Amino acid sequence: MNVYDSNRMKDLFIDKGYKLTNDVTKANLTILNTCHIRDKAVEKVYSDIGRIKKIKNNDKNMKLIVAGCVAQAEGEEIRKRSPIVDFVVGPQSYHKLPDMINKLEEPLNSDFLQNEKFKNLIYNSSKMSSEFVSIQEGCDKFCSFCVVPYTRGPEFSRPINDIIFEVKKYTEDGIKEIILLGQNVNAYHGEALDGRPKDLAYLINKISEINGVKRIRYMTSHPIDMADSLIQAHASNPKLMPFLHLPIQSGSNPILKKMNRKHTVEDYLDIVDKIRKVKPDIAMSSDFIVGFPGETDEDFEQTMRFIEKVKFVIAYSFIYSPRPGTPSQHKDNVEQAVKKARLSALQSLLTEQQNNYNKSFINQDMEILFEKKGRHENQFIGRTIYNQSTFTSSKKNILNKILKVKITNSTKFSLECQI
Ligand code: SAH
Ligand code: SF4
Repeated sequence: MNVYDSNRMKDLFIDKGYKLTNDVTKANLTILNTCHIRDKAVEKVYSDIGRIKKIKNNDKNMKLIVAGCVAQAEGEEIRKRSPIVDFVVGPQSYHKLPDMINKLEEPLNSDFLQNEKFKNLIYNSSKMSSEFVSIQEGCDKFCSFCVVPYTRGPEFSRPINDIIFEVKKYTEDGIKEIILLGQNVNAYHGEALDGRPKDLAYLINKISEINGVKRIRYMTSHPIDMADSLIQAHASNPKLMPFLHLPIQSGSNPILKKMNRKHTVEDYLDIVDKIRKVKPDIAMSSDFIVGFPGETDEDFEQTMRFIEKVKFVIAYSFIYSPRPGTPSQHKDNVEQAVKKARLSALQSLLTEQQNNYNKSFINQDMEILFEKKGRHENQFIGRTIYNQSTFTSSKKNILNKILKVKITNSTKFSLECQI
């Protein structure tokens, strides 16, 4: 979502006559868009500010903005610690940035102005093959480890027509894949033209009526919002890709309870059964936190058994990071060495599953959407319908094409193919 937000900030300034530079020493304006989800991300912001300070000392006219969730959560602290920062702006008020720079608006970051924000943004495609579209933001679930409800604000869904307008804009530029974004994307309940709320399955089916759209993905989903209509959409809508990122965080019920996740391991397994019944080849992905306060060896073992049972094609895993303002922050009691050992065991198991999954595709024919150039000459990188990264060599330009290929080789993290 930060990539999406950064693109919108870029579009706002380009509309005002600015040009994009990748060389920070040449910039009149630098925006650091920040993430607050784990502690490391915050440390990185301060070290980046330190690096930019040196450049800014040489060019007093350069303006430095800190945007995103760190700005939202620690605006005052940033100003105190780093007076060289000119403006701080939270994720729901960055549409005001151009006016702030011209001193027409007071800097503010405490309000959650989702509706006003989306209406005032500018949507230009990056002219590649795949675009993110934020459809839902914020969260009312208050998992005990998570800052999102405090930084992104309450759950908000954009109206269907606004989303369709944005998607059409991208497809007119040739974009083929749309990735719908939300912190709780499957809780989507945006208004249709008749003023009634509609769910994510409805929105996906509407978007798939647009000719230029060839592939639809969505992330991130919460298990308790996994509606039957969405499961059905996976069976009936060929443009909806067979990939489901469904974080569980832990395979132990007592830990899920402490995390305030509002569902059990069995509830999750029921969803997996249901979706595999209607879409047997669905690729499952998840997020895990290790070393959550009170996590015992037995709890961790249950997470490992759970992973063995479900078999994930990819998953993201993190060491628990106590976050300011969250209920679980003061209870961090698993030793760092234990956390690290658990993370390493969990990641080996996940990597083994991913490796085996990728291997099973060797010699198979698949459709790939080629999205970007690789590092080597004539190399192109794309994705399978299951979201695996795939590379090949081609003398012809195959960017933004969906092509039939044969998979010739696999590694832990990608597939090699021949057109
Ligand atoms: N809305 C999604 C997750 C959004 S945050 C959901 O409900 O699952 C993305 C991921 O960051 C989470 O799934 C979690 O695994 C990780 N995460 C969030 N807060 C964390 C924390 N305090 N410590 C470690 N990992 C965290
Ligand atoms: Fe954070 Fe996701 Fe829980 Fe919301 S549902 S509080 S975004 S982890």
